[in-house]
Amino acid sequence: MCQLFTVHWTLTPRVPPQPWIVCGGCGGLRPFEASGRFRLNANGKKLDAWLIYKCRTCGATWNRPLFERRAVRDLAPEILEALHANDPARIRAHAFDLAGLKRHARRVDTFADHDLVKTGPLAPEGWTALEIALTVTDPVAVRLDRLLASELAIPRARLAVLASSGGLRVDPDRKDALRREPATGTRILVVPSGEEERWALAAGAVR
Ligand SMILES: [Zn+2]
Repeated sequence: MCQLFTVHWTLTPRVPPQPWIVCGGCGGLRPFEASGRFRLNANGKKLDAWLIYKCRTCGATWNRPLFERRAVRDLAPEILEALHANDPARIRAHAFDLAGLKRHARRVDTFADHDLVKTGPLAPEGWTALEIALTVTDPVAVRLDRLLASELAIPRARLAVLASSGGLRVDPDRKDALRREPATGTRILVVPSGEEERWALAAGAVR
């Protein structure tokens, strides 16, 4: 009989994705980083908005279009205010929008630096399987097996053994799921073999 110990992990990247853009300043294909500021241009009742990026080599700017010629009256007042105030939460939402960024740059680098918040109940008496429900707020360039190995203090080789023997399952079960970056909604089920592994998993699951 399977007694589940379910915990939730929320993975958040620390570094925004960096697009590679041909720089107007130093003239090559360069990585750019978000500057933390918007640029707005009002034209009558229409508004253009960009997020300003800076070349990491020379500091020249690239303006990433967010929207063009949008009627001001169609924008929610709080959005207008956030744009005018360079609101950090609004900046962050755009800076981490990888899909949006990929519309403007063929190459976009993502990074492994992340924060992880673990929440869950106390391990129930006699639990037999640990279930980790993963939320990934924005893409993080970290392999699932590296994440699990460092957080659960189980070597990656051991994780591979567990996976091949059915003691570790990833849902959805994509090919090479352990070697890929985890997507939000991923669930990981680990069945410990032995009391020592059970204790180690319980310790790493929520702290
Ligand atoms: Zn440059």
